[in-house]
Amino acid sequence: MALSVAPADAVLLDDALSEELLRLTDGAAAPCFQCGACTATCPWGLVSGEGLSVRKLMRRAQLGLAHENGAVWLCTTCAACEARCPRGVPISRVMVALRQAAWQHRHVPAGLNALMWGMYWDGNPWGRPPSQRSIWARGLEVPAFGPTSEILYYVGCTASYDQRMQKIARALAGIFRAAGVEYGTLGDREPCCGEAAHNLGQAGYVRQVVAANERLFAEAGVGTIVALSPHCYDMFRNRYFLDGHPGGWRPLHYSEYLAELIAAGRLTFEQPLAMRVTYHDPCYLGRRNGLYEAPREVLRAIPGLELVEMEESRAEALCCGGGGGRMWQETAAGQRFADLRVAQARATGAEVLVTTCPHCIACLEDSAKLGGGAPLRVVDVAEVVAAALGVSTARPAAREMAR
Ligand code: SF4
Ligand code: SF4
Repeated sequence: MALSVAPADAVLLDDALSEELLRLTDGAAAPCFQCGACTATCPWGLVSGEGLSVRKLMRRAQLGLAHENGAVWLCTTCAACEARCPRGVPISRVMVALRQAAWQHRHVPAGLNALMWGMYWDGNPWGRPPSQRSIWARGLEVPAFGPTSEILYYVGCTASYDQRMQKIARALAGIFRAAGVEYGTLGDREPCCGEAAHNLGQAGYVRQVVAANERLFAEAGVGTIVALSPHCYDMFRNRYFLDGHPGGWRPLHYSEYLAELIAAGRLTFEQPLAMRVTYHDPCYLGRRNGLYEAPREVLRAIPGLELVEMEESRAEALCCGGGGGRMWQETAAGQRFADLRVAQARATGAEVLVTTCPHCIACLEDSAKLGGGAPLRVVDVAEVVAAALGVSTARPAAREMAR
């Protein structure tokens, strides 16, 4: 007679999966002692009744249990939970590793497959031709990076291809010109930094992208790279040239670089700009890389501009909801963190919500437009600086862009 060895509600541990998760997460979830502070901190608890049970996911990572309900794809990698974890568990790193396992077991949301194919074929998550990468610069005289360039201006995929974000790319080019910076770009040769693939759990592909880009940058003589997006900046700072760079690797976010130019007296403002603004800290600049002051220093250097803080700012700032690959997934109405952030911005009485990240702009602008309430413009710090300098960010006519 056959004996039943597992009651119907027993949880069966899968040794092979357990070992696989241990390898993928590098044992990072092991110190978790299940206090639940992460679950209590996660912004998903503010927008959905169930929230996101981060604690349970960490337990599953420890035990090697499959998770098939898709919860792991909700994480925006905002790191709010990590800031509260008493055991220092790198929770978002574990989430990304769990996504890596989810690809292997085909538990992946619809749409991400097509996105990854777009990246393989076109080298960017927008699935746009590489030959159109520098279309944002049409009508501007943007120099190619060369031996006399002080910096490589790295525009990134989103500001290269998205029409709204191209205004930020154009603003920065105008600011560099106004400050007399000898900058250059790689034009259509500019590669994707690999951030979207990294956060979607495509570690093997990202290793190839990073290795190829390191070769390209080293051969071109790139030392100081100024990234428009905090997501690219985070990649360059934390995943590139980890074994050293022949001539010194200096990745900067543009806000850091503008603060340096202001401190050196190279970027000055003659005309006042009367504007009441509040600043949203992007997770990938603030919590993940500790860069809170540079964007504020830039804003404070503009005469006439008043900066007011939201109730939650700096390390406490609420995530916009667009990080960790969430930009590429649908978020149901009523579950958007950005709606809450926009309400916080409106509560300050500011007329403009400024930030320093294209992903944040996309999420916050949608919420500001669709949510009703007092008018609130959402713009990038680079656009504010360009306005203060009288630099135009307008795109040329469609005919000119298409040439
Ligand atoms: S806060 Fe840290 S220790 Fe506590 S449950 Fe979450 S991961 Fe585990
Ligand atoms: S990183 Fe952010 S979204 Fe992800 S689990 Fe932590 S608090 Fe939640």
